[in-house]
Amino acid sequence: MKPLGPIPPGFAAIDGELAIAGRKASDLAAEAGRTPLFVYDGGLVASRVAALRAAMPARLHLHYAVKANPFAPLLALMTGLVDGFDIASGGELALAQAAGLDPARISFAGPGKRDDELQAAIAAGVTLNLESAREADRALAIGERLGVTPRLAIRVNPDFGLQGSGMKMGGGAKQFGIDAVLVPALARRIVASGAEWRGFHIFAGSQALDAAAIVETQAQTLLLAARLAEDAGVALPRCNLGGGFGIPYFPGDRPLDPGPIGAALAERFETLPAVLQETRFCLELGRYLVGEAGVYLTRIVDRKESHGEVFLVTDGGLHHQLAASGNFGTVVRRNYPVAIASRFDAEPAEEASVVGCLCTPLDRLADKAHLPRAEEGDLVALFCAGAYGATASPMQFLGQGPAAEMLIAPER
Ligand SMILES: *Cc1c(COP(=O)(O)O)cnc(C)c1O
Repeated sequence: MKPLGPIPPGFAAIDGELAIAGRKASDLAAEAGRTPLFVYDGGLVASRVAALRAAMPARLHLHYAVKANPFAPLLALMTGLVDGFDIASGGELALAQAAGLDPARISFAGPGKRDDELQAAIAAGVTLNLESAREADRALAIGERLGVTPRLAIRVNPDFGLQGSGMKMGGGAKQFGIDAVLVPALARRIVASGAEWRGFHIFAGSQALDAAAIVETQAQTLLLAARLAEDAGVALPRCNLGGGFGIPYFPGDRPLDPGPIGAALAERFETLPAVLQETRFCLELGRYLVGEAGVYLTRIVDRKESHGEVFLVTDGGLHHQLAASGNFGTVVRRNYPVAIASRFDAEPAEEASVVGCLCTPLDRLADKAHLPRAEEGDLVALFCAGAYGATASPMQFLGQGPAAEMLIAPER
């Protein structure tokens, strides 16, 4: 028997079934007309953002990292909730524009931006978080050719990473950002070029559940931003402090408490050095805003036994849930929160593994879990599916194609 991750708050049973935003899983699957299906509860997203704002100093802006979940209705919902958006490709720029996001509120990070991507972003008025000095040259040349003043910020590769984070993206040699020592000279060059200087983007890591580690990283980030701006002798209109707020996926994970993070930040904002007094600060968060609001519903197609073990074979799988299957940057496979949605309030009665329909042993959604007895036709819910599911999984693998997606708008 292997434990399951914690089911996030905000889900209840109606008539014995899992309800999402007050609607039964079977009704949602019927409405979608098919499974597998991602359901995103917009009310949970809105309340997460509201709670986060309440915990953070009012001066701090909140950005949404589009790569976590670029589903168009979700982006449209986000426009009313957050102050800005961070994209990481020309494809995400197109999605953001299609969803009607204001380009002036978008910034674009990511290594390897092609000229056509730079051109589309500069023409639209998107801020570029430059990842190299060469990229700065190309952006300036494209701006000149278009007759448009590019909005340029520098993504700094900090000399530290976010401790305890699932994915460190700073500290040492990295393909991200520009090494801190090179930043002051480049900042001066950008200001002198006549481009619109937008400041720094400093992102040190992802998926941290330890508030103290985030507090420490933000303190170091503010010190670094001040030092680099002073060395460069330039003002800092904006500073993106990164993000890294994680969510509990696995057994034993504890939710992150944003309270101490906001309190520490408020204190630091009181005593900022002169060079940061006028700076607009933001956080960029992906999974923390949307991850726990999403549920992946998949139907049991077959129930079988092999050498005494029960397998619940579903119509879903790693082609929509690569991370949950343990194949997206995990060393030891652990179970995400999973439940039998159609028997949500039933007691666990047997040990069963939930597997997908792909012809590979990697396709396992829950390993040796303690679950209510389930049959063909029952729905399985996989939680924490709001981020890095649909678009971070190889959906074309084995000819499967995408899952259905549905956003339940918040009640007003
Ligand atoms: C992936 C990424 C994010 C979002 O990360 P989450 O863990 O989903 O919050 C934010 N900023 C940058 C630069 C990223 O690469």
